[in-house]
Amino acid sequence: MTSNKKSGRRLRVTKNEPKQPNQPDDDLLFYLNQLRSEECYCGRTKKYGFALCYGCWTQLDGETAKHLNRQICRGFEEAFDRAIKELERIGRI
Ligand SMILES: [Zn+2]
Repeated sequence: MTSNKKSGRRLRVTKNEPKQPNQPDDDLLFYLNQLRSEECYCGRTKKYGFALCYGCWTQLDGETAKHLNRQICRGFEEAFDRAIKELERIGRI
């Protein structure tokens, strides 16, 4: 015979997690707004959710454009900065 004794399990609620203030990052907001905006950095209209308008996009270095498909916090910021620099260099913005 097997006896299945239920072991009394004590739940220990630990509320010791260090709470960090989750303050919105200004930089992050900037990039988010760029994506949400329907105006490109160059002033032309663009599609919501895209980093830049099609015209700017085609001017970019292939590698930069590819990285712009990344998500925020996963490389998008760097790619966007690079894109802006490239567009400035060619005098588009
Ligand atoms: Zn543009």
